Amino acid sequence: MKNNINLNQLDILAFAKNGSELSGEYALDAFARLKEEDVRERATDTVHWRLRGEQIKPEDGENQIWLHLNANTKIMLTCQRCLTPANFDLEVSRKFRFVANEQVALAQDDENEEDLLVLDRKFNALELIEDELIMSLPIVPRHPSCHNAYLESLAAENAESTEFERPNPFAVLEQLKKPTNH
Ligand SMILES: [Zn+2]
Repeated sequence: MKNNINLNQLDILAFAKNGSELSGEYALDAFARLKEEDVRERATDTVHWRLRGEQIKPEDGENQIWLHLNANTKIMLTCQRCLTPANFDLEVSRKFRFVANEQVALAQDDENEEDLLVLDRKFNALELIEDELIMSLPIVPRHPSCHNAYLESLAAENAESTEFERPNPFAVLEQLKKPTNH
């Protein structure tokens, strides 16, 4: 079934009626708008996602069509406190109820706290995943502790450098200590 389904043209009604479930992963690169938020030129992270359709039949009332969405990824943003890169985990877990049309959505929107979307035979679930991940971005990205992050980045930098690329600071010290007037 998975191979026959286009995530960007999902028949929501059929998906929900069948209680279908789909999951997978895409490279962060596949989501241009989300990727744009990342400070790295090459982000190699993966977006994991899961969609589940559900039809609920209330005792008195019309059938309800639901879509459950889970998605997560990692992203690197600029810390607004120390202005160096910071890693963030994005996590989305939401459910949406689908209604017949825009009018119903508008009419019902004030009545309840459910997230309403309009039924579509070619619903772009890929876009929904991306929208929700973008909405889950921190408004003001910050390291939990900027000082520690700075020390970690220094440690990583030191581990990467070899003694040929950079003079060993202790060797330089030794040279400074050598008496020059004897
Ligand atoms: Zn910071």
